[in-house]
Amino acid sequence: MIKNKSLILHPPDCHELPDAKALQHALHQLRFIDAPLDKEANSYLAGDDFLQLIIFLGCSPSVELAPTEEDKPFCYIRFLQPENGPLLITSKHTNNPRCSSCRKEISSKTDVVAQWQKEKDVQLSCPECGFTGKAQDLNWRHSAGVASFFIEVNNVFPNEAVPSDELMSALRKMTGSEWDYFYYHD
Ligand SMILES: [Zn+2]
Repeated sequence: MIKNKSLILHPPDCHELPDAKALQHALHQLRFIDAPLDKEANSYLAGDDFLQLIIFLGCSPSVELAPTEEDKPFCYIRFLQPENGPLLITSKHTNNPRCSSCRKEISSKTDVVAQWQKEKDVQLSCPECGFTGKAQDLNWRHSAGVASFFIEVNNVFPNEAVPSDELMSALRKMTGSEWDYFYYHD
């Protein structure tokens, strides 16, 4: 359901479900998103201030923000709300999760994903320091995330771009919580 590479933003609590319509309206006002895309549900063209709100690092080549005749990949925004509640999204790029307390690796990502699929609230323990937490409490180093609502910015490579402080603080104001983000790359 996710495209091959993207930057994905989500609320910190995996059960938090923002009012999608209100959020889309606010993000439109912020000029993060523009008109809806015909081809794909819940998808929008990047708005006029997109490149101030998503900061491309280094000497990035010109970023495509609209469909081209040659069908080149371009950045657009999609809102995702999984039907069956919280979703743990990982990709080939995902690191093994680390303990949020002592930073040691908790277990392999494959094991954590398998356990999470059996039971979403599974408690995972750190073999090193005894810290216990759910999948969303682990330190995935911006390479995976658990949420019930995601904002996907398509066609961004891992670490190629980061959400600006302005975007993160706007999301915090809109929803009352501190958002997080990760990169998906398969
Ligand atoms: Zn630990």
